[in-house]
Formats: sequence, structure tokens, C-alpha cells
Amino acid sequence: MRATDDRYRGEKARFELAMRMIGHEARTGTIRYWTGLNDDRIRKLYTTYFKFGDAPVRRRRGRSPTRVGPLVRTPLRALESGVFANLLLANGLFSVEHPPGPVLKGSIDLGHRFCECYETYDVLVPRGALSFEWGWNLLVSIRRGDELGIARCQACSICYVFDLLSLPRSACPACLLFDHKGPLVLAPLTTG
Ligand SMILES: [Zn+2]
Repeated sequence: MRATDDRYRGEKARFELAMRMIGHEARTGTIRYWTGLNDDRIRKLYTTYFKFGDAPVRRRRGRSPTRVGPLVRTPLRALESGVFANLLLANGLFSVEHPPGPVLKGSIDLGHRFCECYETYDVLVPRGALSFEWGWNLLVSIRRGDELGIARCQACSICYVFDLLSLPRSACPACLLFDHKGPLVLAPLTTG
């Protein structure tokens, strides 16, 4: 019975991760990568639980985005990508010391952590431009290490993502934005 219980638990965990990712409009290939479920089962999950629900979830077809340009195109995008990269780093989804970091494929635990990063990003960056799939693209690109790098600004300590191939290297996006808009005026918090 023990083996059956373990198998059942493993299966349940894979389904739960798939459901969480479908809720974020992840593409089938992304869900397959993390959970190991085949396309047919992912499709059935989507049709059974999401297609006709109270808040229907869109099903994204085709491949995940792979271009990195949009992730760093403007200072604001580079900052938003930096917030997500910080969360990914803090959650051990990639490693600076031992690149690229842990094996992700088929890891239910890290898959949930990736979802947590995205959910936290969504709270920290209201109306942020990063979708779940663009966040996944960001993680893959950072781990690959040939196009995107992360840096910490000496002046403002903000961590941001930059294009490794663009020369001269782009300046800190936060400092650029502050230069443009002037210093931030902090309004006092009101109570009640
Ligand atoms: Zn800066």
C-alpha cells in the first residue's frame, strides 16, 4: 500500500501544480516541463476545471516567448524584470555562485516556488508587464547566461536585469528614471 500511497501523492502534487499554472495562463509546454504530465492530460484538466468556470481562464497556444529584448527594452521594464529576478534568486531558482542552479525539469517543489515568485511579483508590481510566460522566459534566459545578466547598482543598490550583448552596457534603470523625474517625494502615510 505504501508504494500506492506514494504514487498517489506524487500524482496529486503534479496535478495541483498543473492547476496552479493553468490559473496563471501558462502554456501547455511549460506545464509539461514542470509537471511531466502529457499534453492530453493537461488539456483535460483545463477543459474540466477552467474552460467553463466562473472566471474562465484563457488557454495560451503555441510556444513560450524566447526573445529577451522586451524584458529590458525600457528602464521600467528592466526594473520590473529586476524585481522578478530578485524573487527567483531568493527562491533558489537560479544560482549566481553555481550557475545555472538546480535542475528545474519535473521539480514539483521548484515549480510551486516559481508560481510563488510570480504571485509575489504580481502584488509588488501593480499592472506589471510580465506575464507568467514572460517570467518563465526571463528565468530560462538568466539561467542560460548568454543574453541577460543581473547587476546591482553601486549608487542606489537596486538589482536590475540588463542585456549582455548591448554595448555600452545600459545604465541603472532606477537611476535613469530618477534623473528623468527628479527625486521621489515621499508622502506621509495617513492613518484611518
Ligand atoms: Zn541605480
